[in-house]
Amino acid sequence: MSTYLKTQPDEKGFFGEYGGSFIPPELQAEMDKITDAYYSISKSHDFISELRSIRKHFQGRPTPTYFCRNMSRNINGRIYLKREDLNHTGAHKLNHCMGEGLLAKYLGKKKLIAETGAGQHGVALATAAAYFGLECEIHMGEVDIKKEHPNVVRMKLLGATVVPVSHGLKTLKEAVDSAFQAYLKDPITAIYCIGSVVGPHPFPMMVRDFQHVVGVEAREQFLEMTGELPDTVSACVGGGSNAMGIFSGFIDDPQVRLVGVEPSGRSLKMGDHAASMSYGKPGVLHGFRSYLLQDEKGEPAPVYSIASGLDYPGSGPEHCMLKDKGRVEYTTASDDDCLNAFYTLSKVEGIIPALESSHAVAYAMKYASENPRKSILVNLSGRGDKDIDFVVDTYGIR
Ligand SMILES: *Cc1c(COP(=O)(O)O)cnc(C)c1O
Repeated sequence: MSTYLKTQPDEKGFFGEYGGSFIPPELQAEMDKITDAYYSISKSHDFISELRSIRKHFQGRPTPTYFCRNMSRNINGRIYLKREDLNHTGAHKLNHCMGEGLLAKYLGKKKLIAETGAGQHGVALATAAAYFGLECEIHMGEVDIKKEHPNVVRMKLLGATVVPVSHGLKTLKEAVDSAFQAYLKDPITAIYCIGSVVGPHPFPMMVRDFQHVVGVEAREQFLEMTGELPDTVSACVGGGSNAMGIFSGFIDDPQVRLVGVEPSGRSLKMGDHAASMSYGKPGVLHGFRSYLLQDEKGEPAPVYSIASGLDYPGSGPEHCMLKDKGRVEYTTASDDDCLNAFYTLSKVEGIIPALESSHAVAYAMKYASENPRKSILVNLSGRGDKDIDFVVDTYGIR
């Protein structure tokens, strides 16, 4: 393990002044048990070798690193993609869901509980539950259930129970509350599985560690392909798990620039974007401290992005620390930038990217045109099949 990973977070789950655990005492007791178990089990030979085998035989890892020959021909720089779209289920999320599922198995749990917004985390977790023969209960707002019908069907096919949440705005925030309630009623047989590097300790650390494989593979593959390290590594940031995965592989290489790309959406007015690292202020939400987009009253602001996986008002605590330290830079891409990258990568390289990942691709296209001969490696966090109907119905074929 890298020097950096061994020292972050501290024993209370703080990354600098961010992270920690701001939750009711009864939940804290359960989190402490998960933390202790994670520290001992995740270092055991059996756990490591079983996870390694799952990565290879079930998920199809390692995923390739790919040089975008066509796209790079028209611009000066060189663009490379880490192909998480080729990970089983079509995105990086399964990397941490399989880790969480394996931990649940070692703990003797019978059930995985989580919330889902657009349904991507729900599908990945339901996949892990099916693999390990565990029950799976996914809490989802009624508004999202209507909007994300195909993912609801997928979760049910995979054997999960989808619990509709009908209070408040009936979306992600209410689904989180509902899932926490359900978990508190049943902490002995169930385990809560978070979908990104967010939430109370130990989740930001655990999810990062399970995503670390992306950065380790990418670094090795890039060195093998080019004989050098990339000049810049970039990834989109919602909660920040795919970004932490790839960044963590290069964090001990000071010459490699790391860039997180957030959605600036339709405009920079409140409610029109979700760029919490770029425009948020420190605050506490969902049990941890991070940069948070807030309204005048200090409540979490409404957020928006064309990519539903990025519309969260906070970001992982580790990102906040890395921003303050200046180790990672954060920038934005708008809906229009994202769509342009979506259409370009599809047509020029034959790869249809997720709208989330398209934000990072948009940044890479800009970087490559401005930086002759430099190389940029993008974490292509997922494939765009889930977005095709929406994009083509709304914007047509370009
Ligand atoms: C969920 C999702 C994201 C955003 O989550 P992070 O935790 O920020 O990585 C990005 N890309 C895809 C394809 C997703 O499904």
